[in-house]
Amino acid sequence: MTISRRTFVTTGAAAAASLALGERAGAEPVLARVGERAARVPLASRPVVIASGNGLRGVARAYDMITRQGADTLDAIIAGVNIQELDPEDQSVGLGGLPNADGVVQLDASCMHGPTKRAGAVACLEGIATPSLVAKAVMDYTNHVLLVGEGAKKFALGMGFTEQNLLTEKSRKDWLRWKACLNPSDNWLDAPGMPRAPARTSQRDSAPELGVNFTTGTINMNAVNAAGDISSVTTTSGLSWKIPGRVGDSPIVGAGQYCDNTVGAAGSTGRGESCIKTCGAFLIVEFMRQGLSPEQACLKTIERVIATTEPRLLDGRGRPTFSLQFYAVAKDGRFGAAALYEGGSFAVADSQGARMVPFAFMFRQSEKPQAAVSCSA
Ligand code: ASP
Repeated sequence: MTISRRTFVTTGAAAAASLALGERAGAEPVLARVGERAARVPLASRPVVIASGNGLRGVARAYDMITRQGADTLDAIIAGVNIQELDPEDQSVGLGGLPNADGVVQLDASCMHGPTKRAGAVACLEGIATPSLVAKAVMDYTNHVLLVGEGAKKFALGMGFTEQNLLTEKSRKDWLRWKACLNPSDNWLDAPGMPRAPARTSQRDSAPELGVNFTTGTINMNAVNAAGDISSVTTTSGLSWKIPGRVGDSPIVGAGQYCDNTVGAAGSTGRGESCIKTCGAFLIVEFMRQGLSPEQACLKTIERVIATTEPRLLDGRGRPTFSLQFYAVAKDGRFGAAALYEGGSFAVADSQGARMVPFAFMFRQSEKPQAAVSCSA
């Protein structure tokens, strides 16, 4: 498999020029080549908050808290992701999240606080709508980084979180529909010797392209304040219909999110297993440490994801059959995000307001392999 047709020319003069222009919000952005398209390299401007596409309301809230109330970056972005966690209509996070194969909503989240070099996380948490806040409580009140399952729930209840039923009627019906037509899109591998089933992709990955009524999601949010302090958070209900106990990248520090106060922060949404294998968020931060821009670092990490993808998840031309998106912000306020396939956008809030910005991408939409699905909702 080769991805050499993609050329990165942004490392040199353009990136340097962007940095040299410094923190002048509103000045003309520098144009650089990224692959086959001209990409705008955003000027560094602080504070800045970025998030996955479902975080537009969240970045606006977090930016407002940082600029108007002088809020800590982690408190601000957690308040930002709480909007989605508490929104029953968002089926990817918190209350209303799509359940696992048993019909149980199991939530994952992690966070990092750059200035104090701390991290917290929870996985397979049931019955608590705001796992991001429980992750922060793990960070604030324990000597640990990650609590899971029953222990995480017991901890949360002890900390005063309220238990509630997270399975909304809408998500329950979607789960029943999925159960009624269990098909090759489940999360089990073919047993050795059995005939191979059509391509297996997650319902959430394939849903937008196939018009199936499932929500794709997870929310990652990262912020840098005026002083250059940085935080990151990712929260999710994980892959829909997952095998009970399955944990994705979101609660894994270094995969679903990572923050180094001297460099920047990064996070991911999409197929968590592929992110975990590359330590995605950590790798992006390390690439930024080596001098790549946030967008370049995201793209280079996508290259690594492709290079480490097992053949069963690649089409005949070596292109992944799943979706994955990365988001990054540098300490100086530059930001960027990239997806495997063209399309979609991420949320940004800075001095120019809260808005959506298109992803950089590795492959054009027309190159995306068609996922096979035998059951439509
Ligand atoms: N990254 C999440 C997970 O693997 C899922 C997603 O973002 O859709 O759990």
